[in-house]
Amino acid sequence: KALKVLGVNNETDVPLGDRKNMMYMGSSVVYGRGKAVVTATGMDTEMGKIADAIDKTEDNQTPLQIKLNQLSRVLTYLVLGICAAVFAVQIARAGGFEFEAVLDSFMIAVSLAVAAIPEGLAAVVTMVLSIGVTNMSKRNAIIRRLTAVETLGCAQIICSDKTGTLTHGSFNVPAVHPRTISEAQLLDIAALSESSSNHPIAESIIRSHGGHIDTSRIGFIEEIAGQGIKAIIDGKTVLAGNGKLLSDAGVQWHGCSTHVGTTIHIAIDGVYCGHIVISDEVKADSGEAISRLKKMGIAKTVMLTGDADKVGKAVGEQLGFDEVYTELLPTGKAEIVERLLDEKPSDSTFAFVGDGINDAPVLALADVGIAMGALGSDAAIEAADIVLMEDKPSRLPLAISIAKKTIAIAKQNIVFALGIKLIVLALGALGIADMWMAVFADVGVSVLAILNAMRALRQGE
Ligand code: ADP
Ligand code: MG
Repeated sequence: KALKVLGVNNETDVPLGDRKNMMYMGSSVVYGRGKAVVTATGMDTEMGKIADAIDKTEDNQTPLQIKLNQLSRVLTYLVLGICAAVFAVQIARAGGFEFEAVLDSFMIAVSLAVAAIPEGLAAVVTMVLSIGVTNMSKRNAIIRRLTAVETLGCAQIICSDKTGTLTHGSFNVPAVHPRTISEAQLLDIAALSESSSNHPIAESIIRSHGGHIDTSRIGFIEEIAGQGIKAIIDGKTVLAGNGKLLSDAGVQWHGCSTHVGTTIHIAIDGVYCGHIVISDEVKADSGEAISRLKKMGIAKTVMLTGDADKVGKAVGEQLGFDEVYTELLPTGKAEIVERLLDEKPSDSTFAFVGDGINDAPVLALADVGIAMGALGSDAAIEAADIVLMEDKPSRLPLAISIAKKTIAIAKQNIVFALGIKLIVLALGALGIADMWMAVFADVGVSVLAILNAMRALRQGE
């Protein structure tokens, strides 16, 4: 049975209610411990909601479908008008209201209506979009909303998070620099503080610590998004995070003079105890992903990160981003995304891709939000339009190219179907087309259009 489980922090019995601390059925507690409260079952769970969202995607029409429905409506009236005119002309030509003449004229007019009324067009587009969605899912890009195919296909600005999205988020720990305590003590305090976090930084510190973590020493842990951890350990207040976290608490700190990397500063009871430098590796295909996006004609690539300026800028430059913004809190990321949304041309769309940790708000803000890795938080998956099930940034240009191709094929099919209908309409008006041609123009064209979409989209890549 599918269960949704709400995480409860350490010793407290009160559900945190904070989305980032939620756990769901199928997740495992890797670090720390907690009580679990079942808050939903069956269709109320996240999996249930995804299934429901997929069911509902058809009600949720894409701009192309809306335009097509409008066009179909206009064309239907036009065709009915033409049919009435043809009927009148045929009767006039037959020179009277004899039963046979009326029947013949009526058959011609009806054939024309069957041939030319474009009622199947919208269905053809929906089928093509569905084939595109299936195709993307085979490449591990799960579309949660059908409209996302179009919004993704029109993307002109691609904005990305850094840690966990472009980098592995699995850090090495090249330096542990204690000040007032020993190296082992510093690492111990850091590992205890991070013991209930699912941030890649936490995972790395715990891995580097390697030993047993005695969670009974922990009184309380609070994770501050984009800054770090505030904890009570052995009854003392511990801060473990970036410079901002310490500065806000009035603790003096200094950067590392020997190593470049994300620096986690530690303070105990307001006294600076040193730092741990960790360095993250850029994923092998991040550079290729960005250069492919450029080649596809994406107008602007932007990187947003909560990491230090030096680290963020270095990664941004290495990967060839057009714009890089660093040292951002989740709210800061949202502000920049809002500005970029305001600035973009109205006929293009804005896509944000993130691993989901600390970026659910921007995923929801973007025209198309893409959650990468399915490891990110549940809130992010709920906010996203597309979920990339693999941790590979190169899936993004691939998904965009399938989306573009899907839209192009849908448009191609519309032109093809309308063209055939027009020809049969003209032949019919001249008295050349019969009912069989009319049926072909209607059903045959739809079938051909779908076969065309299957053929074109199967080639994939
Ligand atoms: P990004 O935007 O690159 O994905 P985040 O917003 O997740 O990065 O984090 C931004 C910064 O906040 C990190 O570089 C780190 O300095 C600090 N931080 C966040 N979470 C933690 C944590 N669990 N422990 C220590 N520091 C953290
Ligand atoms: Mg991140």
